[in-house]
Amino acid sequence: MGQNHIKPDWTSDDARPASDADAGKTVTILGATGSIGKNTLDLIERNPQRFRVETLTANSNVRELAEMALKYGASHAVIGDSALYAELKDRLSGSGITPAAGPDALVEAATMPVDCVMAAIIGAAGLKPTFAALSQGTRVALANKECLVSAGDVFMHEVARSGTDLIPVDSEHSAAFQAIENLNIESVERVTLTASGGPFRTWPADKLASATATDALKHPNWSMGAKITIDSATLMNKGLEVIEAYHLFPLRKDQFGIVVHPQSIVHCLVEYDDGSVLAQMSAPDMRTPIAYSLSWPRRMKTPTERLDLAALGRLEFESPDEARFPALRLAREAMQAGDPACTILNAANEVAVESFLNGRLRFTGIAEIVEKTLNKAQRLGLPNSFKTLDEVLELDRSGRELAHSLL
Ligand code: NDP
Repeated sequence: MGQNHIKPDWTSDDARPASDADAGKTVTILGATGSIGKNTLDLIERNPQRFRVETLTANSNVRELAEMALKYGASHAVIGDSALYAELKDRLSGSGITPAAGPDALVEAATMPVDCVMAAIIGAAGLKPTFAALSQGTRVALANKECLVSAGDVFMHEVARSGTDLIPVDSEHSAAFQAIENLNIESVERVTLTASGGPFRTWPADKLASATATDALKHPNWSMGAKITIDSATLMNKGLEVIEAYHLFPLRKDQFGIVVHPQSIVHCLVEYDDGSVLAQMSAPDMRTPIAYSLSWPRRMKTPTERLDLAALGRLEFESPDEARFPALRLAREAMQAGDPACTILNAANEVAVESFLNGRLRFTGIAEIVEKTLNKAQRLGLPNSFKTLDEVLELDRSGRELAHSLL
């Protein structure tokens, strides 16, 4: 018998039924030289019919930014550090790619019309450009968790006002996004984010103070940028993620939980009131959630490792230890206190992580500085809420100053 010529060959990428809406989507990547940025470019390179790069940005890595812009045929390349404009221009000369530099140029880049902006700048530096993209009504694939931690209400109001889509990239939130059935949102009882436990999951409390940056940067499962890897070691990352999840999904604060799962195969569990639990699983490779954020509501093929559960043998789960990892408690307390406390939590954490990476603070000092900064900010008085992004950025600045003064 011959082949059925009516049925396409579904195993071939080219034969996949890319609808018109999926073909030639333009993508801007804020933070292209980082871990998320590079994984996004890897997927775009593998799907040239579906995606085209519009603008790429970086902060100081000018050589890599220029190389990427040339390789991927970007229309614009923007470097955050204004002092590097001449070098960027020089490296792109004759290519037709428009160079730009400085914080305002990053915001402008985010507002250029595209189908999707990948928000992958690290830290609070990503707030303004990401907000600008949302305000414009552009779909945002959100990797930068600090946006929702520092300014959750302000961001979500802007999403509602502009009517655009905010698609989570963080693996746990992408998993929740996939497992929460919109029609049954009222039946969701609990959303549990998984945490790998980081490199110090089994370390005794008395050894943690002497943990070095080299120890902390050895994440057991994920390959990520330095800041989020340290956040994973303190478990602050999971605390930030619970705050992020609270803003993304219309559930109460007490409906979010954390379970430690050292294999990082299950990313989130959504429990319904009929006793069902829907979990999303995949190998720990960010290209799976990034692909979903780019192709949603459809899926796209990725080259990530496929799961072989029999070979894995065991999936383990345990409760997080808040005594050894106080960042979890601090994040929960800040979430209860409201957005301004979360802004301070994030600002102090960014200052403390940077100091740890520079060798000026010991590992356990990170949570200590965050706690001291939060306590002092609360004594000095925090607003109840924010109305504008400028108010958030002003408090973020004060939080950083306070944290520096306490170092
Ligand atoms: P990286 O540190 O690897 O990359 C950060 C990117 O942001 C780089 O392109 C960097 O440019 C740019 N950048 C840094 N500072 C500034 C600034 N002041 N102004 C403009 N651009 C800046 O980070 P990751 O890719 O690991 O993380 C990005 C975001 O995604 C973070 O918010 C993180 O929490 C989140 N996330 C990351 C995951 C991961 O697997 N990495 C998983 C889930 C969430 P340059 O190279 O020039 O410094």
